[in-house]
Amino acid sequence: MSKVMVCNGCEQPLIFTFAFPYCEYYCLSCGAKGGIFGTGHEVELTPELKSTLVTIHRKWGQVKRHIVASRFKLTTCNICDKTNENHHQHLTPKEKAKSEWALEKLESWAVL
Ligand SMILES: [Zn+2]
Ligand SMILES: [Zn+2]
Repeated sequence: MSKVMVCNGCEQPLIFTFAFPYCEYYCLSCGAKGGIFGTGHEVELTPELKSTLVTIHRKWGQVKRHIVASRFKLTTCNICDKTNENHHQHLTPKEKAKSEWALEKLESWAVL
């Protein structure tokens, strides 16, 4: 049987994300976030957890492409290409707004 990483607080599945610096895991159910070590624990993947996981990934899929994580260069960006800057250092106002919207959305789902 396969395993899934769940939140220490609410026992719901965690997502793996680069949305928050140094917090690779995020819990869409209660808003907990943390690094690779100590944030969650593995449990057996039950049918209930599996369907929760589908919902979580559908929500995450709506916002993840809008989130501009720090510490990364964008391969399609000229400025990233020509300077030493990471992409978040020269976001357009539109990209910035989108990214903030996505992060807010992400946190608004954490209602437990
Ligand atoms: Zn949680
Ligand atoms: Zn760039």
